[in-house]
Amino acid sequence: MHQLKASEPDRISPLIFTDLDGTLLDHDTYSWAAAAPLLKRLEKLGIPVIFNSSKTVSEMKNLREAMKLSHPFIAENGAVIAFPEGYPEKNGAGLQFEFLGRARREILEVLTWAREEEGFRFQGFNDMSLQEIIRHTGLSSEEALAASERQATEPLLWFDTEENKARLERMLKKNELRLLSGGRFLHVMGTCDKANALAHLTRRYQTDWQYSVNTTIALGDSPNDQEMLNAADVAVIMAPSDAPPFHAQGKRETIYAGGRGPACWASALTSILLPPERECHE
Ligand SMILES: [Mg+2]
Repeated sequence: MHQLKASEPDRISPLIFTDLDGTLLDHDTYSWAAAAPLLKRLEKLGIPVIFNSSKTVSEMKNLREAMKLSHPFIAENGAVIAFPEGYPEKNGAGLQFEFLGRARREILEVLTWAREEEGFRFQGFNDMSLQEIIRHTGLSSEEALAASERQATEPLLWFDTEENKARLERMLKKNELRLLSGGRFLHVMGTCDKANALAHLTRRYQTDWQYSVNTTIALGDSPNDQEMLNAADVAVIMAPSDAPPFHAQGKRETIYAGGRGPACWASALTSILLPPERECHE
């Protein structure tokens, strides 16, 4: 007879959910060099660093390999979760996917309809050539190709008024779609978001993978990170405390990293996970 294993959690760990552009990656150069030593250390300790960004699976897969990370990641603003095959026991090279969002084809149909109805002035990735995507993002051609391989969201550059943006948002809402502001682009997507994906993946760690998750930490730098930061135990806002670009409130704690990019990312996480030892008074 099959012997049931005791279902005691066998791994006690925090989970780190991080935005990429302007958070773990430098906003202008996309470099993550200043965070490399801490990433290596966290990987060695088995602490999951989980990307949670508007980037595509193709883009994040390359980055994750470059950073030598082995844990799942969340793509396209919470719409797609990618897991290594056999995770967490094995770490297969292949990826499996779970979709929380809407298919991009359906999103493009609604956007085409809205533009025909109202004449909105915007340009989505679907309207751009690869050269235009390169120009607007500053990515290399290989990176731009990976960015264009989208499954469940459409990024837009908005050239119209704020009033028309609100009108588009209402039209999208009637079709169960939402409009989010990212660092450079607006993102049209299903009703999922980075916060839903954080909660969903945290549950999977606890119920499917026998982790005892002692803290969830989220780091982000723009309004589309706000809900993710609110959903985490510890919210790290990648900004100085005196001039935050948006407000968020972690369930237990809110920390201002002092600025954006990998150096601030690493120092904020170090202060949370590896606080300096208290002075000893005899
Ligand atoms: Mg960002």
